[in-house]
Amino acid sequence: MKLLVTFSRKEGKKPIIAQVVRDTGVLINVERALIDSSEGEALIDIPDESCRLVKEKLEGMGAAVRILEEELNLDEAECVDCGACVSICPQEVFSFDGNWKLRMEGKKCVLCGRCIEICPHRALSRKGEA
Ligand code: SF4
Ligand code: SF4
Repeated sequence: MKLLVTFSRKEGKKPIIAQVVRDTGVLINVERALIDSSEGEALIDIPDESCRLVKEKLEGMGAAVRILEEELNLDEAECVDCGACVSICPQEVFSFDGNWKLRMEGKKCVLCGRCIEICPHRALSRKGEA
């Protein structure tokens, strides 16, 4: 299961993900991280059964945590099945069905944003940002 973790760095550079791994024993795969001097955002992947434990631990350390399930939105009315997103996605989220219609497996997405930028019809968006 994927969690989007946002945390402030104003009180110092605490290695919060490393601390959660140490305290819970859960192995965390960091799929994407954007960190600057004031805040950080990390997309992490953890076993489903550890989701609650890790989420509570991170929140206890001051981080905001969102569980990501199907976070990428495809507007089928706008999509023209051009395939630009198929080529650019590093996670193989997109494919075509037997009729050359776009298919999307949202659970594989790491929200890198490349397909959103490249789509010529603005058919892709992050949920809540369409
Ligand atoms: S890039 Fe946009 S229009 Fe093209 S197949 Fe992907 S979602 Fe559809
Ligand atoms: S946001 Fe990135 S990982 Fe997710 S579907 Fe688009 S290109 Fe693939």
